Amino acid sequence: MKTIEHVYINGAFVTPHGSEAQDLYNPATGRVIGRVTLGDAEDTRRAVAAAKRAFPAWSRTSKQERIAWLHKLHDVVHARADELNAATVEEYGGTVAQSGWRAALAAEAFLNAATTLEDYDFTRRIKATEVSMQPMGVVGLITPWNNNCGFICGKLAMALAAGCTAVIKPSEMSAIQTQLLAECLHQAGLPPGVFNIVNGRGDVVGAAMTAHPDIAKISFTGSTAVGKSILRGGADTMKRVTLELGGKSPMLILEDADFAEAVPFALAAGFMNNGQACIAGTRILVPQSRLEEFNALLKTAVENTRVGDPRDPATIVGPMVSEKQYERVQRYIRIGIEEGATLLAGGPGRPEGLAPELAQGWFVRPTVFSGVHNDMTIAREEIFGPVLCVIPYRDEEQGIAIANDTVYGLQAYVSSSDPRHARAVAARIDAGRVLINRMEHEPLAPFGGFKQSGIGREYGIFGLEAHLEPRTLLGALPGV
Ligand code: NAD
Repeated sequence: MKTIEHVYINGAFVTPHGSEAQDLYNPATGRVIGRVTLGDAEDTRRAVAAAKRAFPAWSRTSKQERIAWLHKLHDVVHARADELNAATVEEYGGTVAQSGWRAALAAEAFLNAATTLEDYDFTRRIKATEVSMQPMGVVGLITPWNNNCGFICGKLAMALAAGCTAVIKPSEMSAIQTQLLAECLHQAGLPPGVFNIVNGRGDVVGAAMTAHPDIAKISFTGSTAVGKSILRGGADTMKRVTLELGGKSPMLILEDADFAEAVPFALAAGFMNNGQACIAGTRILVPQSRLEEFNALLKTAVENTRVGDPRDPATIVGPMVSEKQYERVQRYIRIGIEEGATLLAGGPGRPEGLAPELAQGWFVRPTVFSGVHNDMTIAREEIFGPVLCVIPYRDEEQGIAIANDTVYGLQAYVSSSDPRHARAVAARIDAGRVLINRMEHEPLAPFGGFKQSGIGREYGIFGLEAHLEPRTLLGALPGV
């Protein structure tokens, strides 16, 4: 049993004012493995005050000083990458196959921010003016449970690179991972108050941050519903926001696709992170003329997808993070059946053949519905589990129209044997990022959503500037 009794404020692990306790689980067994004491609105106020005090000095550090700190932050996180990965497997149920590199990637966020900073000029001239980019102030960073260390490090790296100080509210379900990460970050020895971490409930700590007048900006990753509440709650204090929200990403299989590549691509995109991914390609759009061929291959591939112990390197799909998430996914599978979609693979309940110690774990059967119409609930709402829809289309125009017929626009995928064809189609998809033929990631290129998938972008220069306000000086340049 791990007990987490502290929040991190002003450079120290301190006992929170809040006293509500919450159990922490291993989702593979359904057993309690720890307990966290949650912070409250008073802890939030203390953390914000510390970040506010630290801001003037931190915002005046030079670019070179901040680059040096970012390298240090990378090193301290990287040093405990194995422990962080193990905690992700235990507390989140992330498979070792996918979690093995997660902490290293989280640590790299600091190097990416350093690289961005190296090339960035905070001052520029426009005609006779001098425009300088100013850090916004204290930023509130609110993160979900599906990539705890990655989101905290990514957001913190950019906030610090910009010269902002931070209050972090991680998911209350990820406290073991957060504690380890906090210990790493503490090791870096940043000045007190530059970053603070308050474990707490969203409707308590998250809401207090959203309303706090001394927080200039909220950078949030999570559901679209909560993103909207942050937008509303932040209006009175005119909060700047970066909102990274939900998705219902299309995987557009073009008529000329090579199915030997398209099927693994569709499964990699659909089942990544146990299906609990905002960027998961959950709507597979297939040309009617090749539907039967595609479905036959997909069915076999899904039936051979190993689901089970996340510690087993052969496991592709681990458990859902919580009982609530398990029930949510089961509900959507029932809705799909009720709406008349055809089960191609999987279905309700737990998978067969789980080891006895996993019998109470929150495992769902990797499920694919065929014969789905884009108006069905399972094609419109984010399920956040390994449940995919195959939606047939008549011709390419209709395929593109269906791909764009969603309130979301985070990511999309195109599969084709002709790269020029794929590129032309990708250019017509309303999504912040489109992946052609393979899973890829570029941490210096902008990431974020069109439409209700969010506001703003993270990563690279776009992510840095999202923490800066331009100030224009006139009459300041001698002789101009
Ligand atoms: P969530 O929205 O329920 O919670 C996210 C965070 O917000 C948590 O820390 C939670 O405590 C906090 N929160 C909850 N209510 C709040 C409130 N009223 N005010 C302020 N904060 C509040 O999301 P989740 O269930 O943790 O994560 C899954 C969701 O996150 C999915 O919708 C997924 O698509 C989305 N997501 C998006 C991205 C992206 O980059 N776009 C990445 C990962 C996950």
